[in-house]
Amino acid sequence: MGAYNVLARRVMAPTLDRIRGCHCMASFAELQTTQWWPRERIEALQRERLARTIEHAYAHVPYYRLVMQERGISPQEIRTVSDLSRLPVLTKTIVRSHTKELIADDIERGDLIRCQTGGSTGSPLVFFRTKLDRYSHGLARGLLAMEWAGVTLGDRVVTLVLDHMSAPTTLERGIRPLSAFLRRNTRVQVAQLSDENLDSTVRLLHRTRPKALSAYPSALAVVARHIRQSGRPAPALHAVLTGGEQVTDEQRVVIREVFGVEPYSRYGSSENYLLATECEEHVGMHVFAQDLVVEIVDDDGSPVAPGTEGRVLVTNLHARGMPFIRYDTGDVGSYAVATCPCGRGMPLLDLLSARRCDTIYTRSGARIVGNAVARDDFALLGVTALQYIQEDLDHFVARFVVPGLSTAGARSRFQSQARDMLRGCLGPDIDIVIELVDRIEPTAAGKHVPVISKVDPYSWLNRTTASP
Ligand SMILES: [Zn+2]
Repeated sequence: MGAYNVLARRVMAPTLDRIRGCHCMASFAELQTTQWWPRERIEALQRERLARTIEHAYAHVPYYRLVMQERGISPQEIRTVSDLSRLPVLTKTIVRSHTKELIADDIERGDLIRCQTGGSTGSPLVFFRTKLDRYSHGLARGLLAMEWAGVTLGDRVVTLVLDHMSAPTTLERGIRPLSAFLRRNTRVQVAQLSDENLDSTVRLLHRTRPKALSAYPSALAVVARHIRQSGRPAPALHAVLTGGEQVTDEQRVVIREVFGVEPYSRYGSSENYLLATECEEHVGMHVFAQDLVVEIVDDDGSPVAPGTEGRVLVTNLHARGMPFIRYDTGDVGSYAVATCPCGRGMPLLDLLSARRCDTIYTRSGARIVGNAVARDDFALLGVTALQYIQEDLDHFVARFVVPGLSTAGARSRFQSQARDMLRGCLGPDIDIVIELVDRIEPTAAGKHVPVISKVDPYSWLNRTTASP
């Protein structure tokens, strides 16, 4: 460990914790220890935190008090993960319609951070988190995931980002330079991956020689293919980290071939931060069971056995401001039957359905990673579901479900606003059609796909090489 790492760990990170009034480094130290506990001991810690979460929800959250009273359940009756199935699944629709009743009455309004997400399923959502959820626990899980990939606090990391994190507080804006310096994290905006952007990204990697590169797997695969096609050497990286989407087998192959390392896949969401991550064995993702309960359930909300696929529900054991209990992520996965050879006691999640999100290709030569096309902002316009389809290079169809639009005027205003927002992402050279629909049909795979492109990337590549 270099002098910079020691400075980052011993001085800068504790200073940031003090400024924020958080305890990220203490949570990180706890995770470093508890990761090696046997499964039973981790589950005992999880049960203790679950009981406290339920008691808090009953005492301070109107929605949960009513739900438990209606079902005749006292908080003392929910003590184990299997007791949890007596409570209903929390869907995005419920969060939307009961936002106020889901906020704890013992939290100062000023402590709540307003967040919005397009979600993996194209259903935008507005919700609230506290700085303790985000900076004491979410960030600590992120640090442990980095450590598993051999990246220490203070190591240089380049992150290819598609959009900005939701509304930072004034305090966060003020301490952002210190935070970035501490993590030596260079953020590169790559929403539009033109050949020029790709060239400059690769040059930056060669110049700054980061220890790790972190990005959506679809963006990493575009960068890797670009390096391979250019015939130039790939930058030397110690680790590649993916998140935001599940990495496909094809993406794993191109990343491994070009960068010479196996990507570390992470699974998280804006609502609950990092949920699970791969260790050095790459046989599945370890769930942070110390901080969360991840249930795999059937369509009725009943837990299924390991090895069986089901919906992924998350109970966040630290989200005191707006507790999410049995929150339906919209993802599909299963618990592994086997244990991981690494010896960690945290359970293994696998077979997570790939969150398909295609890349959009434009005539002017840009590749726009599907997750970079505006989705989060539509939550504020009352959109409850959406889907984008690129029919060909010249035609883009955006379908929206917006329950509140009753008059022709409101519909037309929404259409023009939506067209402007999408135009900002897609550029001038594609025709955008806005359709208002009653529902979005799931795909044949049974999973909603928010961004679909019917453009063949290989013929698109040939087209650009053929043009002058
Ligand atoms: Zn492992």
